[in-house]
Amino acid sequence: MNKTNTYQLRRNQLAERIFTKTGGGIAVISTAPELARNRDSEFPYRHDSDFYYLTGFEEPGATLVMKVDGDGKSFRLQSHLFCRPKDSEREIWDGIRLGPEAAPDALGIDYAHSNKELDQKLGDLLADQGAVYIRLAESAEADRRLRYWMKQVRGQARSGVNPPSEFHDIETLIHEMRLFKDVHEIDIMRRAAEISARAHIRAMQICKPGMREYQLEAELLHEFRNSGAQSVAYNSIVAGGANSCILHYRVGSTELRSGELCLIDAGCELDGYASDITRTFPVNGKFTGPQRVLYDITLAAQEAAIAMTKPGNTFMQPHEAALKVLTQGLLDEKLLKLSELGSLENAIETGAYRRFYMHRTSHWLGMDVHDVGSYREAAQNLTGGEKPWRILKSGMVITVEPGLYIRPADDIDEAFWNIGIRIEDDAVINDSGCELISRGAPVKTDEIETLMKNA
Ligand code: MG
Ligand code: ZN
Repeated sequence: MNKTNTYQLRRNQLAERIFTKTGGGIAVISTAPELARNRDSEFPYRHDSDFYYLTGFEEPGATLVMKVDGDGKSFRLQSHLFCRPKDSEREIWDGIRLGPEAAPDALGIDYAHSNKELDQKLGDLLADQGAVYIRLAESAEADRRLRYWMKQVRGQARSGVNPPSEFHDIETLIHEMRLFKDVHEIDIMRRAAEISARAHIRAMQICKPGMREYQLEAELLHEFRNSGAQSVAYNSIVAGGANSCILHYRVGSTELRSGELCLIDAGCELDGYASDITRTFPVNGKFTGPQRVLYDITLAAQEAAIAMTKPGNTFMQPHEAALKVLTQGLLDEKLLKLSELGSLENAIETGAYRRFYMHRTSHWLGMDVHDVGSYREAAQNLTGGEKPWRILKSGMVITVEPGLYIRPADDIDEAFWNIGIRIEDDAVINDSGCELISRGAPVKTDEIETLMKNA
């Protein structure tokens, strides 16, 4: 299947969902705006994930319009792309544009127009369309545009044209599709995870006491870009010593010291897809006794969670499995007191573990690092109350990332102070269980030590 067909297929699947929901309608979805960084410098441009999912088109200034006509039994899809027109002057400065003339062939779109015609053409396209699918409450600018288009249609009322009367959130439909990755997507995600795993290995190999956090970040970036990844998937975390206990620590200039741990949470974005890996290793290449104890508990928790990452289980089951192992470990090491809590069950139920483990074990992974898709089942026949957790199915991709974070406190054995550990891998759910696509990076203590010793 070629690239174009992948996106055509997705547009057809979305059209079918629109047809099923409202018998037809019109969908409008724009890509992301360019953002100023400072003065006349811009942030590196990143397309909107939903827009890219449906078009494979990376240029700014583009909008996709899908017109779905249904006759009750079947539907017909007509797709329009509005994009930046060719402009020889601008292209000298900013680079080549695809342009509306070449877009239909290149992207498998029915009609392409200059984005300068968007406001005028949308007035025509919205005429006599019952249902409109857009991002609801997206931005003031998007609302302004929609008001303008609606005004155009309403202005034609006396010529017998009806304005749309229903507005639906298009994200709900697209995000449900994006939750299930096709082979094309899983192939990219495997390659992204391989690159990120190599970056973690590189950082472990180069790490020496006395280096600074930002120097390891530089090694990660080198591996990402040198391997063809376009960007990081999120801001890298490189956290030495006490910083490892700060969940969203960025990268600073803290010196990496012998006897301390370094926690790296970093992943590249390749061809629009994220990877998300965390490894924790000793700065000097050798785990101390207390570090090893907590590391092995975290790894055992991750293995327990991975065993529950399979089709038919709920999204929460891996988390529950990890919690059990982590909490038992905390009790064993007297970080939680059995005499106070009474039992493992009670330590979990009361949330006593949250002092040392305060985040969830998993999130969806895809085009966005915290990817889209509902964590709850739709459960149409359920009124009120909580909907059940999502059932895991083949094609979903989740992270499995338990951790333990021990900050200094009077009631904590000093040997455990400032030990922050997280181990995170990316799991593609298949028919029988899951495939860990990020295990190119070593995860067992002796594997890490051997790697660092031989560096
Ligand atoms: Mg992460
Ligand atoms: Zn993550």
